[in-house]
Amino acid sequence: ASLFAQVELAPRDPILGLNEAFNADARANKVNLGVGVYFTDEGKIPLLKAVREAERQRLEAAAARGYLPIEGIAAYNQAVQGLLLGKDSPLITAGRVITAQALGGTGALKIGADFLNRLTPDSIVAISDPSWENHRALFEGAGFTVKNYRYFDAATSGLDFAGMLADLKALPAKSIVVLHACCHNPTGVDLSADQWKEVVAACQAGDLIPFLDMAYQGFAEGIEPDGAAVRLFADSGLSFFVSSSFSKSFSLYGERVGALSIITGSKDEAARVLSQEKRVIRTNYSNPPTHGGTVVATVLNSPELRAMWEAELGEMRDRIKLMRNQFVNKLAAKGAKRDFSFVNRQRGMFSYTGLSAAQVERLQKEFGIYAVSTGRICVAALNSKNIDAVVDAVAAVL
Ligand code: PLP
Repeated sequence: ASLFAQVELAPRDPILGLNEAFNADARANKVNLGVGVYFTDEGKIPLLKAVREAERQRLEAAAARGYLPIEGIAAYNQAVQGLLLGKDSPLITAGRVITAQALGGTGALKIGADFLNRLTPDSIVAISDPSWENHRALFEGAGFTVKNYRYFDAATSGLDFAGMLADLKALPAKSIVVLHACCHNPTGVDLSADQWKEVVAACQAGDLIPFLDMAYQGFAEGIEPDGAAVRLFADSGLSFFVSSSFSKSFSLYGERVGALSIITGSKDEAARVLSQEKRVIRTNYSNPPTHGGTVVATVLNSPELRAMWEAELGEMRDRIKLMRNQFVNKLAAKGAKRDFSFVNRQRGMFSYTGLSAAQVERLQKEFGIYAVSTGRICVAALNSKNIDAVVDAVAAVL
């Protein structure tokens, strides 16, 4: 028999399946709210001006394309630390933070998970219920048992904080807790500053290993405020992990630009941890690609380009908020049978709308509006041309 005779067909990725169905739909006014990408009001993925300028400079410099160090571009890694912790962070000054350029946020999670599995293979990993769908598969793939902690409260379309805290407190010591640092995917529901303080305390009391996933810094309130949870962990003295991504904030999805940062207890520890992390990277993909990291480092390290980028990021953030607002207000004006004001309290690109799988199916069949069956919509795919059609359809299926 053929070598592959017994290979089973893997289940289809639900979101890719949704995209295929959307592409095959012939209706002119169809709308895809299923994707996890920021679109402009014209429905396009932006190419940021700051990125274009950094690319122009790079092309002009005509630099050779040698291998990067295993951990990537030093100026990039430094800039990442500044965004996450603040550039004057005493942890950075003390040499306690190591950062490795990674293949997007996903690549950062993967090298972090592989490193942790060598360090503490019997740990269990706890992720939010629900979470980004790749978290579970990624940590299971690295060899861990993955559990959920309570998170979303369907009754309020908000946070089940009491449930979350109780579940974190019940975890065995050395459990790895994956936390969305801001703009929770898929729900849009975040913790308040006071709630974060309690989570930090629970991690300290329970000897847990926090792993913060920061894929949307700048999409809630701005670079600095969105880093608040990371800063609280930094102030706590705990050792922790942060995976971060520029896919969304630089609109560089396909360039795979992210980073893994590890906050260690001392400079000496940092050197040893980095040496092990480099072994993980070396045996995975050897070293990261040059383009995305160079572009982001150029932007972040040039005051002029950085200001340009922050303004462009601010426009993305403001447009999402405008769409949240219009979604809520237009539904209320239509006399919708449900109060959607919680959508204004959710943050980032996504919203759990509370629409049922049956309602989502009706949106698709009757109106050509595509969303994930959980009721998650990408608010960043709404725009001034499609919002009325979406609101009419939602009101109709309620
Ligand atoms: N983590 C979360 C919570 C995400 O939502 C995403 C992307 O959707 C990622 C990580 C991965 O980001 P990247 O595309 O940079 O790999």
